[in-house]
Amino acid sequence: MIDEGIGGLAAILAHPDDESFSCAGALALARDAGRTTRLLVATLGEAGNPEGVADPLLGEMREDELRCAAERIGLDEVTLLDGYPDGGVAEQPFERLVSDIAAWLSDRRPDAVVTFGAHGVTGNRDHIIVGSATRWAVERLAEAGIAPNAVYVVSPVFGPTANRFDLSPEEQGATHRIDVTAVIGRKITALECHASQTDAAEAIRDIRAALDADGLIFEGYTRVRPPVPPPHPNFGTRLL
Ligand SMILES: [Zn+2]
Repeated sequence: MIDEGIGGLAAILAHPDDESFSCAGALALARDAGRTTRLLVATLGEAGNPEGVADPLLGEMREDELRCAAERIGLDEVTLLDGYPDGGVAEQPFERLVSDIAAWLSDRRPDAVVTFGAHGVTGNRDHIIVGSATRWAVERLAEAGIAPNAVYVVSPVFGPTANRFDLSPEEQGATHRIDVTAVIGRKITALECHASQTDAAEAIRDIRAALDADGLIFEGYTRVRPPVPPPHPNFGTRLL
């Protein structure tokens, strides 16, 4: 049940599984703190096979995987957009995507939003276009005086995998380092829901190895609205 009609933390991403790879820990922590947690996903991920070819059955399977992960994380609401093909979001009218995201946001008025930065963590075009559209949607809300208090982009620089040198400056320069160790079991079980995606199993192995080595797991974010003045790093430890 949703505790707050509006407010809370909202993630706006491109595919089922993006939430589990990126911000599952921060969402779980927000939920445990009594905040409403929401997720908007642009596509069903129906082309998430090795060939990258759309398969309606895979889309159905991945929607089920997403619902499974949402339950494990403790999300209050999951919304899937209609009309955006996996791998082809950039070919759809950008204005429509901005309007769809702005409408979703203005109905829910989250206090903070998490989305993808300019490199989209992996360079995936859907990630990049959804992150960009979200930023424009927030500016549209700002014109109406109802912008969220904070917008963050995912900055995967504290991940258990090797250092990243391929990210945009805003993704590389994390301003927030969130200790998600307390909820890492939920992030792992959310990743387990995405059984159709082989890289989910790899991510679980990486997290477990990092837990064994360091005992701590962090998620990184850069607050891009309002921007955080330098010097960095002087990490914030909460998104809300
Ligand atoms: Zn993705």
